[in-house]
Amino acid sequence: MCEEGQLIPNVCTEQTLYKGKTLTVDYESSTCSTCGSEIVTPIQAHSNQAHILDEQNPRLANQS
Ligand SMILES: [Zn+2]
Repeated sequence: MCEEGQLIPNVCTEQTLYKGKTLTVDYESSTCSTCGSEIVTPIQAHSNQAHILDEQNPRLANQS
């Protein structure tokens, strides 16, 4: 990205294959307002990973 624009966060739904199962999870990313590049920040990458784990282990998600 150009590092001049603002990053606009957005969330979409993605299907991902995880350990042989197709999961539908929220996928967070950010779009640069100037050049339109889409990036995933480290925080968002962490959230995306957590979403996959939530789908994989709904019981664990409910405990926290
Ligand atoms: Zn940019």
